[in-house]
Amino acid sequence: MNESSDNQSRVVVAGICISTILFAIIISGFFNTQIPKQPSGNGGNPIRIAVTLPVFADFATRLHPDQIKVKSLVPAGVEPHEYEPTPDDRITLENSDLILSVGSGFDGWLENLVTAIPAGRRPQILNLGGALGLEPDADPHFWLDNERVIEALEIIAERLIDMSPSAAQDIGMNQELLQNELIMLDNDFDTTLRTCKQKSYISAHTAFHLLTNPYNIRDIPLSGYDPEQEPSSAQIASVIRTATELNTRVIFIEPLIRPKIVDALIRDLGTIVYTLDPLENTDDLTNFSYEQVMRDNLTTLAKALDCTISL
Ligand SMILES: [Zn+2]
Repeated sequence: MNESSDNQSRVVVAGICISTILFAIIISGFFNTQIPKQPSGNGGNPIRIAVTLPVFADFATRLHPDQIKVKSLVPAGVEPHEYEPTPDDRITLENSDLILSVGSGFDGWLENLVTAIPAGRRPQILNLGGALGLEPDADPHFWLDNERVIEALEIIAERLIDMSPSAAQDIGMNQELLQNELIMLDNDFDTTLRTCKQKSYISAHTAFHLLTNPYNIRDIPLSGYDPEQEPSSAQIASVIRTATELNTRVIFIEPLIRPKIVDALIRDLGTIVYTLDPLENTDDLTNFSYEQVMRDNLTTLAKALDCTISL
């Protein structure tokens, strides 16, 4: 964890002793995610949760309905990799008990926002990627890995039970229900993607690797984990070469990402475009369902990659 420029300026102003204490507080906040702010989940007040991914909002709400108040930090329709926080986000965080973050660079902008909040008013942070053991430079899209997402659900449930112990039984029962849905979803992906005749696709950014790689279906991404940059001419040439070698017939764009080069690829390679949703944002957080979007993705994958769908 690097010190931010804000922290460095505190060092100058406050002197060595105070700065050492401040730094220790900030570091312990990020690494232990145990921060002194008391949750509001006991005593009838809902637990206020800020999320950077709609998947976490869906899981938290399903686990502890009526006792959760969720707010998405990234506005609807904004691609979260490129998100730049606003002053309102700091207010949202100060009014939250818990932040559910992705980690692995996906929402790295949280760090400066949180460290700027005085320690006593700072919400807890649950970095799911870190809790799953992912390295900071790993593929952050673990929610598209059908096994990892079940582990993430378990970690969220544990934290909610910590914050609301009197609801442990209800949260546990809801976790089991949701987990069973996710296991069935995993089984349906497994039986379907094993049958695909098409074994490669071009993607708008490296998001679906964890989803399709276990089935030896190769993604040929136009950009890396972060789709902010349009691909260079060298990257495009490499994509065209690989797609030609593999006789790739499909491009997956995303609801929020359609690289400019896609039209040229359709023309030159004769590929067909489908929309696959990496679940990185939604227009409607209230009605967002992880399972529903993933089932829609499975239908799209089966059609695009010529698989026998099994539901
Ligand atoms: Zn992404």
